[in-house]
Formats: sequence, C-alpha cells, structure tokens
Amino acid sequence: MLTKKKEIKFKINGLMNDTEILWKKIPCKCDKSNIEKMHPIFNCLSCKFQTQENSMPRKPFTHLGKTINEIKIVRGNRYNDIIGWTF
Ligand SMILES: [Zn+2]
Repeated sequence: MLTKKKEIKFKINGLMNDTEILWKKIPCKCDKSNIEKMHPIFNCLSCKFQTQENSMPRKPFTHLGKTINEIKIVRGNRYNDIIGWTF
C-alpha cells in the first residue's frame, strides 16, 4: 500500500481578485533604457507594489523556532497594496 506524502498547507487570509486590486490598474511608468528612471530609483508605484507582493511568503516558514503556516495580509487603504502580513 502506498503512503500518501503529507503536504503542509499554507493559508493566506486576505487575498483579493486581481480585478479588485486598485494598484494593478496603475501602469508601470519605468523607462527601461534609463536606470535613473526605473524602480527603485524612480518612484514607480506599479513596480513598488509588485515588489511588495512578490516578497510575501507563499509556503510555510519558520519564525523563532515555530512553523508558520497561516498569514493574514495587511493592505494599504488607498491602493490595496500589500504593506505587510501578520501571523
Ligand atoms: Zn515600473
């Protein structure tokens, strides 16, 4: 008999549909031919918020010896950007 591999689920509370997230409607304003006009030197909201979203954990991680498998997203009021997460 095969034993099923146990998968640890990671739960993210506070996810939103992309269509409801305001900052995803803001186009990238970076000039890719000029580093001074590109994120992070240039203040491009689209790239800034995308970087914040990318840094959010998506799988269980260890914090102070504890395994964290559930987080809650903290969003900015204005753009629905991910400003942090609690666990
Ligand atoms: Zn950009």
